[in-house]
Order: sequence, then structure tokens, then C-alpha cells
Amino acid sequence: MIIKMSPQATELQIRHIVQRIEECGCQAKLIRGVENTVIGVVGNSNQHRNQLEALAVAPGVDEIIPVQHPFKLVSLQFHGERTVVDVRGIRVGGNESVVIAGPCSVESREQILETARAVKAAGAHMLRGGAYKPRTSPYDFQGLGVEALNLLREAREETGLPIVTEIMATEEVDLVSECADVLQVGARNMQNFPLLRRLAKAEKPILLKRSPAATVKEWLLAAEYLLAGGNPNVILCERGIKTFESELRNTLDLAGVALAKELSHLPVIVDPSHATGRRSLVPAASLAALAIGADGLIVEVHPCPERALSDGPQSLDLSGFSGLMEKLREPRTRAVAAGLP
Ligand code: PEP
Ligand code: MN
Repeated sequence: MIIKMSPQATELQIRHIVQRIEECGCQAKLIRGVENTVIGVVGNSNQHRNQLEALAVAPGVDEIIPVQHPFKLVSLQFHGERTVVDVRGIRVGGNESVVIAGPCSVESREQILETARAVKAAGAHMLRGGAYKPRTSPYDFQGLGVEALNLLREAREETGLPIVTEIMATEEVDLVSECADVLQVGARNMQNFPLLRRLAKAEKPILLKRSPAATVKEWLLAAEYLLAGGNPNVILCERGIKTFESELRNTLDLAGVALAKELSHLPVIVDPSHATGRRSLVPAASLAALAIGADGLIVEVHPCPERALSDGPQSLDLSGFSGLMEKLREPRTRAVAAGLP
């Protein structure tokens, strides 16, 4: 951390800052310029970061410039190599794009099994399906809970597809972990810090969705909670953010995906369904996501979207999904996704 004093700072004010830095267990290195004095803070400033940052309002201080990385564990710069999250042998963040597909909510045995068989046949790598649903209205379908978890288990037994399902509450972590291969933290829970702390101790990989109101930095700091607490298996997921655009459910932040990959070693996937809210835009958004460097997709698929209990308008039907998978297999798409010219 560097503390820049104002040109009018008195000797007394400079001495006071040096004293505060030393009280925080760090050393102060003074650089006296023609106009300003600059004080470098040397030592473990992280331990007393809040106290040192508060010096911004001390008399004579012009500006505090942090030099330490706010999310060291998640940062690519500090880690060096990219993380590949292994889910029952499926490598997320490896050379191949990974596709997770399935309904927004598990609604019935027939619905989830039919979807699981169809997405497997079309080439999906994992099955998604919500058992506990975070709905905006308390009157909307809230998910089948334990019954849905049992149905997801059955779908995995039959198809072999690993299961991705949302976890909403700390009390449900053990129960949902028994069934899920990947625990999804929904957009609304990205900054539910007690939940993140609990999931840091879970044995399962976490799919961390970006909140629609979060910056990329806030999203990466949420991931830092998981890594700092001991869970290195984190997959980031961009699912659209709030902007002034009102024709779309959200706005897909493609540059945010590229930025997250530039800043972090964690794999980043894209949810084109929630990002657009419109079935017709899902294929284009999917291709764009892979072209900008996403490691995969999570796509909502329903055997009969017009009957879906949640998110029907953004769900692909079974043939729509197999059409998308064919498109993803085209050599041109694969070359673009691999970053080849
Ligand atoms: C979902 O995946 O169905 C969901 C609720 O997503 P999000 O948390 O991104 O809104
Ligand atoms: Mn949904």
C-alpha cells in the first residue's frame, strides 16, 4: 500500500502517519518528492488493511493506493496455471467445451428422465435441474425439494450424467451434497457469505453464478471466500447482469467473461438462458460465449417449454437443444472456441 500525502501536509502530519503505520506492525518508507511526500507501507499490511485504509481521512493524506491483490487465491497472476475442475471425469476448464443441460426445475419423473435421456443423446456432459428454486415471488413454484433430489439421482443412475443442482441454504448442504455432483450457488446468493463459508468446507465442486448486480471484482471476491475456506473446485458462471435494456431478461456480459478469465485461473462458463430470457437468442449467445473464451455452457432445456413450471420462455425444447449441440460440433465453431483463426 502506498500513502500519498498532500502537498500541504505538515511534518507533524507525516510523522503521525508513520507512527500509525508502525502501530500496525509495518514499516514506513518515505519518498520525499518536490511537491508530495509518498509513504510506502512495507510488511504484512493485509492484516491491518482496514486500519491502514482508514488513514485516507487522516489530516494531510491525499490518497491511498493499494498495491496488494484483493483476490490472491483466485488470481491467475498468483496461481500461474489454469484450474481444471474434475466432475466425475468431466474436465471443466480443459481443452473441450463442457455443456450442462436440463430443465430449470425438476417437475416430475417423466420430465426429468425424458430430458436427461435426450440431452445425453445430444451430447451434453452434465444434467442440471433445480430442486430448491429461488423464485422472485413466494407464490411461484418453489421446487420439489427432496423428491426432486431423488429423481435427479435416478436420472444419473440411468444416464451416467453428473448432476448440477442449486443449494440455497446452509442447513441443506449435507442433504443436497448427497445427490449433487456440483453445487450451484444461484445469482441471488452470490454474496450470501454464511453459505459461501459453509460451501468452502463442502466436498463438492461449486458452480458460482454471478449476481446480476455484481461487478466482476465482487464476483471474484465471492469465489475467494470459497478458495480461502478450503474449496479449490470452483466454476464461475456468467448469467447476465442488470442494465437499462428492458427487452431482455438480463444483459450477457461477454467482456466480463473474458475479463474473469484474464484475472482468474478458474474456469468460466456461461448461462445463455438466464442471460437472454429468450429461447430464440440462446444459440447465438452460446456461440458468442464460446468464441470469447468461455469454458462451457449451462443451458435450460425442457421437453415441452410451454408447460414448464419455471423459465419456459427461455428453455430450448429437445430438438432445439440437439440442433445447438450439432452447431457446437461444427469444425468452424470448435476452431473459434479453441481460439484458432
Ligand atoms: C437457475 O439456474 O435456474 C437460476 C435460478 O439461475 P440464476 O441464479 O442465475 O437466476
Ligand atoms: Mn431457471
